[in-house]
Amino acid sequence: MVRFSQEIEELSLLAERKISSQIQEIDRIVDRNQWKVIEAFQRNKVSDFHFSGSTGYAYNDRGREVIDEVYADVFGAESALVRPHFASGTHTISTALFGVLRPGDELLYITGRPYDTLHKVIGEAGDGTGSLKDFGIEYCEVSLLEDGGIDWKGVSEAISSKTKVIGIQRSRGYDWRSSFTVQEIGVMVEKVKAIKPDVIVFVDNCYGEFTEELEPTQVGVDIMAGSLIKNPGGGIAETGGYICGKQKYVDQAAYRLTAPGIGREVGAMLGTTRGIYQGLFLAPNTVGQAVKGSVYAAALFEEVGFVTKPAWNEKRTDLIQAVSFSGPEHLIAFVQGIQRAAAVDSHVVPEPWDMPGYEHPVIMAAGTFIQGGSLELSADAPIREPYIGYMQGGLTYSHVKYGVLMALQTMKERNLL
Ligand SMILES: *Cc1c(COP(=O)(O)O)cnc(C)c1O
Repeated sequence: MVRFSQEIEELSLLAERKISSQIQEIDRIVDRNQWKVIEAFQRNKVSDFHFSGSTGYAYNDRGREVIDEVYADVFGAESALVRPHFASGTHTISTALFGVLRPGDELLYITGRPYDTLHKVIGEAGDGTGSLKDFGIEYCEVSLLEDGGIDWKGVSEAISSKTKVIGIQRSRGYDWRSSFTVQEIGVMVEKVKAIKPDVIVFVDNCYGEFTEELEPTQVGVDIMAGSLIKNPGGGIAETGGYICGKQKYVDQAAYRLTAPGIGREVGAMLGTTRGIYQGLFLAPNTVGQAVKGSVYAAALFEEVGFVTKPAWNEKRTDLIQAVSFSGPEHLIAFVQGIQRAAAVDSHVVPEPWDMPGYEHPVIMAAGTFIQGGSLELSADAPIREPYIGYMQGGLTYSHVKYGVLMALQTMKERNLL
């Protein structure tokens, strides 16, 4: 049994007492989503034979066809495309965007600068990489207001006859802003469609799935995408992504993923099918564990005097917990402490390094079963002012608790508390 200092044990008790009603609310959401998933399995008559893998062209792979139906059902969408052939979240989002956009069209992001890895997908005209701009698709974004809200004046001025797709990122990603709740996304859909009824609303749903009772496709979003090594994979799916939404747009994305004329009809699942089903079944609960962990972390770090976003008592719509530390030593101790509590790779000590594509050294804790799987407990921080550490995930609440306590313990050992 790890022994934390008495002071840390007391802070932990205080934090847990404080968050008890939040924990109850998370349990309620888990119950709702768990049943929503089970009902989708039942309606689609999921059976053992759906779990076997397919090879070659994999025509008529019932497991693949039915998982699409189950996802569509869970997300309240007309159609879904759930595939291990999506290499990452970025690949999935890119496929959705290229599926619906054509040269001369414009993509307009209304939630400010999108997630880092999408910058290269947007690219530059003539960059030769086959990015959106390289294909003659235009891109525009409207920054968020100071208070993190949508700049509606800016958006209504930016929407033009060329605007084909409106992009919305649900999660804060690694920005010090609030994430957008499903209800807020619903309002965005209404407003942009009031300005331009035929616009296609796309949502990057990464980190959001199952944190609320409803998903963006249930409030009018036309197409959305996410990663299976985040929330909906339940920590079990080994790779992949999903796209869901209106039939027409999901079909277009399928033509982009494989080839026009072929679309969703092929694609060997190899041995991935069972994990995708079982992961979806577990996802509501696992997401609940991770969200509880984030709420606990926020409460505990606030007790110590750090500023957290979201605060422990704010409504949650994604997994990410940001904590603002007082200096680089605290930030490094935080990430190294999280690593010390891992089941995998606890013996390695993360150090800041110059990662390609980043302007500042970055330090990351990741002791995961799935490489880069961020429904598993992980933490990252660019070493720069204002010294914000980001943590997300946790397959079990206890693990997150130990990770966060170990972070405090590490700070204490280094005389930083
Ligand atoms: C993780 C993430 C992505 C990209 O997913 P990768 O799997 O890292 O490529 C895109 N958008 C958001 C908001 C994310 O959290």
